[in-house]
Amino acid sequence: MNTRVAVIGAGPSGLAQLRAFKSAEDKGATIPEIVCFEKQSDWGGLWNYTWRTGLDEHGDPVHGSMYRYLWSNGPKECLEFADYTFEEHFGRPIGSYPPRAVLWDYIKGRVEKSGLRKWVRFNSPVRMVTFSDVTKKFTVTAHDRTNDVTYSEEFDNVVVASGHFSVPNVPYFEGFSTFNGRILHSHDFRDAMEFKGKDILIIGRSYSAEDIGSQCYKYGAKSITSSYRSKPMGFKWPDNWKEVPLLQKVVGKTAHFKDGTTKDVDAIILCTGYLHSFPFLTEELKLKTANRMWPDGLYEGVVWEKNPKLSFIGMQDQFYTFNMFDAQAWYARDVIMGRIKLPSKDKMSKHSKAWRKREEKLENAEQMIWFQGDYVKELLAETDYPNFDIEATNKTFMEWEHHKVENIMGFRNNAYRSLMTGNMSPAHHTPWVDAMDDSMECYLGDGKTGRREAAE
Ligand code: FAD
Ligand code: NAP
Ligand code: MG
Repeated sequence: MNTRVAVIGAGPSGLAQLRAFKSAEDKGATIPEIVCFEKQSDWGGLWNYTWRTGLDEHGDPVHGSMYRYLWSNGPKECLEFADYTFEEHFGRPIGSYPPRAVLWDYIKGRVEKSGLRKWVRFNSPVRMVTFSDVTKKFTVTAHDRTNDVTYSEEFDNVVVASGHFSVPNVPYFEGFSTFNGRILHSHDFRDAMEFKGKDILIIGRSYSAEDIGSQCYKYGAKSITSSYRSKPMGFKWPDNWKEVPLLQKVVGKTAHFKDGTTKDVDAIILCTGYLHSFPFLTEELKLKTANRMWPDGLYEGVVWEKNPKLSFIGMQDQFYTFNMFDAQAWYARDVIMGRIKLPSKDKMSKHSKAWRKREEKLENAEQMIWFQGDYVKELLAETDYPNFDIEATNKTFMEWEHHKVENIMGFRNNAYRSLMTGNMSPAHHTPWVDAMDDSMECYLGDGKTGRREAAE
């Protein structure tokens, strides 16, 4: 029988895996049979927006953590696919920080063009994956939600691409059970308009804290207080945004902070990150890690050292995203197709540990970006994924960091050169703080609609 490969998830990582196999097929290779299981009714992962929170229409946990008005938080030039440029998709260069709908369209464009929908079983959450030491095969059990049938099939290889920004990490603070307002995690945040005119408290100091706070500012929150555990974000915030040390307790609506200050707030948004969660994997197959640049146990950040027939895509904390997932997926493909011969377990483990040792010394975002760039470079050297200029990509990330320090509410007004086409991207027609409409039509349009003045 043909080799069969199961891909779990049809987000950017899973779709990268499908595209990797298709690319080999297009070049004349005989590829395995691919079955991609996707829990949602459409592809694109987090980029496929849902208004739902809590449980989905079938009673499973909602995957989506994205919210309305979300725009790319890094330059799109740093995530561009090397084999499918923005210019190819949109027919012309576009701005550097597209809103969610535009990026979703781009992700879909490549797999639609390749005709890959037929490989995906939608509405099909994977419930269990086991491996038999006797047959050397995996049994994948999935729930066909459309027909409400649970069934199992055998596969030679499994690629886990189920994401890791979906299951919220929810800490407890004293007084939460008697707080007279709303407490939510960023996973359940959907529309900043809900907080118009409100005093909000944000816990956390990373991307969700920064961006959800910025959304609430943009859409009219009365004040934003952001509370950090380790250190402040330190940007030049607007006047109604204060950064304070960690929350100690809430009494009624009053939040008390470590420096002795207090603030009355209407809502508390926990931007406290996510948990890697693989309830469908047995103990010996389960990746257990915090959100970090180098999770343990993955050779080349991809191959499960304890059982190399299993791979994980996109499990690292991310500066690089779509093109890193591609580099990983091409690597996983070549391991599965026998084009890459893996070293002994001992050698794999030593190699991973050396990366991990280097990771533990990283002190700031800049160092993490160069680290991840070096990692992507190592992967690129191993496969035929189109090479691209890592150093120039890193430098674009550096410019982005610099633009954020200069103006946190204005960094998205900048534009950068495509590292794939060499063409400069145009500046967007409307400054981000005044661009209220995040639809694709508005973004790609002439800028006469969707501005703050028109909305008010
Ligand atoms: P996901 O996008 O999470 O996709 C995983 C897929 O697996 C989903 O479709 C899910 O339904 C499916 N799945 C999960 N479990 C199962 C199961 N048991 N069975 C079957 N299917 C399953 N990155 C950027 O580059 N730029 C940004 O601006 C940006 N913004 C972000 C904003 C937010 C709020 C978050 C949370 C993340 C953001 N990211 C951003 C990072 C994001 O992780 C990546 O862009 C990308 O979506 C990761 O792709 P993925 O395929 O690994 O995971
Ligand atoms: P994250 O980067 O993992 O950060 C988690 C944050 O939670 C950290 O600041 C951490 O604080 C804090 N934290 C955890 N436990 C805490 C506790 N008990 N008390 C106080 N603070 C606690 O998670 P994230 O910010 O949700 O980002 C996840 C992903 O989403 C990233 O890839 C990001 O790029 C993406 N994202 C993108 C956008 C966009 O604009 N497009 C928006 C949101 C998110 P310490 O740092 O002190 O440990
Ligand atoms: Mg190469």
